[in-house]
Amino acid sequence: MPKRIHPKPISIADIFIKFSTEAQCLEYVEKMRWPDGVVRCSTCGDKNVKRVMRQSESKNKRPWFYLCLNKDCHQQFSPTAGTLFADSHLPLITWFHAIGLILNAKKGISAAQLQRDLGIGGYKTAWYLTHRIRESMKEANPVPLGGIVEIDETYIGGKVSGMGMKFAKKQKRVVAGAVQRGGKLRLRHIPDAKIETLSGFVKATLAPDVERVMTDQLRAYPAALGPEFVDRHEKVNHIIGEYVRGDVTTNSIESAFSLLKRGVIGQFHKLSGKHLHRYLAEFEYRFNNRSESDVFINTVRRLCNVSPLRFAELTSGPKA
Ligand SMILES: [Zn+2]
Repeated sequence: MPKRIHPKPISIADIFIKFSTEAQCLEYVEKMRWPDGVVRCSTCGDKNVKRVMRQSESKNKRPWFYLCLNKDCHQQFSPTAGTLFADSHLPLITWFHAIGLILNAKKGISAAQLQRDLGIGGYKTAWYLTHRIRESMKEANPVPLGGIVEIDETYIGGKVSGMGMKFAKKQKRVVAGAVQRGGKLRLRHIPDAKIETLSGFVKATLAPDVERVMTDQLRAYPAALGPEFVDRHEKVNHIIGEYVRGDVTTNSIESAFSLLKRGVIGQFHKLSGKHLHRYLAEFEYRFNNRSESDVFINTVRRLCNVSPLRFAELTSGPKA
């Protein structure tokens, strides 16, 4: 029987070698957008298009664009139009290398670090880049968790100088987490840890046929799990120093939280609650794809398939 070779995830060095020119990156984006190799007009869908090389290749320009030859259309379009790479003056190389660095940083990487590593002009540009990559990592339709699932909640950030402790606590962000043993992680920024809120998280997270659900002693859980899941609920009581009883423990979700916090506290000093959901999506994505050899390719594909996120959408609205 042939020995099964486990494909190794692509390394940063491989990414830097494989994608060392704009043309290589743009070819790759085209492969993702048009897997059958036939480039189609982004306006009318016609296959009768012509690649036009740009005359003077400035640093910020894509090396080529397309011209639709349909006489009723005649539009020019870029292979990145309609993707998250659009509206960006950054070279695609910077995007590709940023994706590699983010995927490889177990605790996440700050925009300031990425700016230094990749020689990006401004902090704001680097920040916007990281958030668009995070946006692509969001699971649109997450699969419910089954088997044995650990659920817990944690608090992130929140120290407000000059305010009393009572108020400072209110500024903390609540993150609900669930992990299927040997499976996927789910992290959500929730407004509070009240029964109704936790109940909403539980219902959106657990598969109806989940075997067992493990939590700590928090009083809200039995009610939050409700009649549907409460018969499969097992608790460890941290208050009396109990962390493991047989296989009943919440250690897996707690270690995911601790990794998240080391990243959030260490890398993202001024974390706004408004953007927390995107940081959580990044952590979740990295965790859930940790042994996926095609994670780099899949991430580029996601960026090609998510519609452009405007800077205004990222920065407007309340700082909730
Ligand atoms: Zn056209």
